[in-house]
Formats: sequence, C-alpha cells, structure tokens
Amino acid sequence: MSKRIKADVLVVGGGMVGAAVALGLVQRGLDVRIVDQRWPEVPEGEYDLRVVALSGQSIGLLDRLGVWPQIAAARSAPYRRMQVIDGVSDAQIVFDARDYGWAQLGVIVENQRIAALLAERLSLHRLEDTLSEIDGGRCTLASGTRIDASLVIAADGAASPLRERLLIDSDGRTYAQAALVAHVRCERPPGDLAWQRFLPGGPLAFLPLADGRASVVWSVPTARAARLIAAPATEVEHALHIASDGRFGAVALTTPMVQFPLRSHVARQFAAGNVALIGDAAHTVHPLAGQGVNLGFADVQCLLALADRAMHAGRRVPSAGELQRYSRQRRSETMLAARAFDALNGLYTAGGPLVALRSLGLSAVNRFAPIKRKFAEAAAGIVSGAG
Ligand SMILES: Cc1cc2nc3c(=O)[nH]c(=O)nc-3n(C[C@H](O)[C@H](O)[C@H](O)COP(=O)(O)OP(=O)(O)OC[C@H]3O[C@@H](n4cnc5c(N)ncnc54)[C@H](O)[C@@H]3O)c2cc1C
Repeated sequence: MSKRIKADVLVVGGGMVGAAVALGLVQRGLDVRIVDQRWPEVPEGEYDLRVVALSGQSIGLLDRLGVWPQIAAARSAPYRRMQVIDGVSDAQIVFDARDYGWAQLGVIVENQRIAALLAERLSLHRLEDTLSEIDGGRCTLASGTRIDASLVIAADGAASPLRERLLIDSDGRTYAQAALVAHVRCERPPGDLAWQRFLPGGPLAFLPLADGRASVVWSVPTARAARLIAAPATEVEHALHIASDGRFGAVALTTPMVQFPLRSHVARQFAAGNVALIGDAAHTVHPLAGQGVNLGFADVQCLLALADRAMHAGRRVPSAGELQRYSRQRRSETMLAARAFDALNGLYTAGGPLVALRSLGLSAVNRFAPIKRKFAEAAAGIVSGAG
C-alpha cells in the first residue's frame, strides 16, 4: 500500500534554494518535507566545478540558518576587490572593499558545499524521490507516496517540472551563448580579486578559489563553445591567456571544461493557489552579474518573512492571497534585474558607437565616488551598513 503523509509544507527540489527555505521553515516549527532524487555530500578532494559569488544578504541568510560558520570555515574565498574591464576600449571600473570600510565584497563558495551543509540539517525531513503528480496540495511522488501539504514550494530548478505542470509560462530568451566553466592554475593567481573582462563574444570571469586557483566562467557564442570543448587543453589555455589579456600570466586547466547553455527566463507568476515558485524554478538570469542564487535566496527571505507574518496571525502557513503578494513583489524585482543583465550583455556584445558610450560610462562611474559606492553596494548585495 502506498504511504500517505500530512505536512504543513512540501518543498520540491533540494538544491541550494529549496534546502534553504526548507531549513528556515523547520526552524520556525513547521512540519516540512523536502524531496529530491539525490542528496549531495559535502565535497572532499577536488572542488565542485560549480561555484557562486555570494552577496552580503545571502551570507546573512545562511548565517541565520546556522550554516554560514561551517561554509566559511572550509574552502570559501572572500574577495575584497572587483575589476570590470571593457575588453575593446580597456575602460574599467575597480571596487575595493577597504574604500567603504567593508571586510569583503563577496565570497566564492562551491554550490555543492552550500547544498550539502543545508541538507545535513534536514535529515529528518528529506525524501529521496521525485514529484510526479500534483493536484492542489495533494502530491504524488514517483515511489507512490502521497503527501498532503498546505503549502507546496517549487524549487526544482530552471526546467521546473512543477512549473510546467501548473502551466505557468515564462518571459525570456535563449542566448546564443554558452558559459564555459573550469578551474585553472594561474602563473599570477587572482588572490582576493574577482575579475571580469567584457569581450565582444561575452564576458570572461576569473574568480578566486581558496587554494589559490581560479574558477573561470567564460560566456562565448555557442559555436565557439563547442569548438573549445572539443579542443586540446593547450589550445584552450592559450585562448584563455589571450582572452584575459595575459592578466594572470600563463593559465593551466586543472579540471575538464564544461558548458552550460545560457537562458534568461522569468515566470509570469511566482505563485498559483497554494504553490510558490522560488530560485531557478521562478527565474534564471545571465551569469555575468553572478546574481542567480542571490536572487533565489532573496525569494527565500521573502517567503520566510511571509511565514512569520502568518504565524503571528495564528496561521501555520501563508494564505493564497499572501502568496500572490510574494509573487508580485519578487517578480517585479526579478524582472528589473533580468532586464538589466540582459541589457548589459547586449551593450557589451555590441560594437560601433556603443563602445565609446559604454567606455565613457564606465570611466565616469569609476571617477565619481558616490555613484561608484551605489554600484559597489549593489554588487556586494548590501542594503545599508557594512558587509
Ligand atoms: C555558469 C554559471 C555561473 C553561475 N554563477 C553564479 C554566481 O556567481 N552567483 C550566483 O548567485 N548565481 C550564479 N549562477 C546561478 C546559480 O548557479 C543558480 O541560480 C542556482 O544554482 C539555482 O539553485 P536552485 O536551488 O534554485 O536550483 P537547482 O540547483 O537547479 O536545484 C533544483 C533541484 O531540484 C531537483 N528536482 C528537479 N526536478 C525534481 C522533481 N520532479 N522532484 C524532486 N526534485 C526535483 C533537482 O535534482 C535539483 O537538485 C550561475 C549559473 C551558471 C550556469
């Protein structure tokens, strides 16, 4: 006979964002179940190829969830400086946390470490399974287990089967670019610098890793991505040396290079009935600003605040009306961010008179301290005060 479970909340997807919201709700005393087909282990040995630049607000959330000290203690790389260069004109902007009295601008962390440390705290709430059917709050998993939940949270990633099942459309586009990702050893390591150079084919980023290597994220046109993936290591290393303008000296690949197709989408609604969409299930953005999971963690903060309000009003979970408010608020903030990143990508892949205009803008911001501070605050994810 199939198992039946009653719960306050079912979270579908145990990636960084789903696990964070599940842990926040467990800490509030709710009966939570979280389902994923596989659960990650804390990475040992070689670093996870996927890393993220976490903003101050995301770090604050992970700290409140009680996992930040463990994340910070192993293989995390704070960066204090950020340099963004126009690869055509060489105009640039440089941020230094010390100019603002901050300890850092952000921290580079392995995705798998964040997800695994959150998942460890959810051992009593995890199910190794997948969602196969949903009818209101009644969910059926692939194993046949049925879960009746008052609130369902879709955190099942960019392809979100749950979003598809609810027939929620998205606005967005597929870029004619793919992101190439690898860890490299550099003759001159980046140290505490997060570095990005905008090239006509797309941006190239070198992000510091805790062991002195760098994580490379290189957005290139899809045809070039396919060529580079198939090319011998020496050819890729040479291409990276040229694309980075020799900034880090000779570059040696220490991992295989993998590619991610790039797509930007924002769901038309972030909630339907008693289901809320969060993280990549609700939105994906171009990685050029390193904001994807930071936007997902902002969804988590917003949902946790709603849960607090519902509890103060004597209810265990937010109502459908409150989820609609979540949907409006988070969707409009995310649309703004997605459009800005899209415009930035377009601006930097454009040629002609736009080159002079964007270079003028970059140099002007670099010289004008008050505006530059606003950019630094946005990049570091700081609302007010120090990071
Ligand atoms: C190249 C690249 C670089 C990036 N760099 C940054 C960065 O520097 N900073 C930043 O903030 N963001 C960055 N991002 C974005 C960031 O990686 C994503 O936003 C983040 O990983 C999304 O997390 P998530 O938990 O929402 O989704 P996911 O990590 O995709 O998790 C979804 C989970 O749902 C599970 N699932 C799927 N279907 C089902 C089902 N039916 N039932 C149960 N479970 C299911 C999956 O197994 C998976 O574990 C980058 C992205 C790319 C591609």
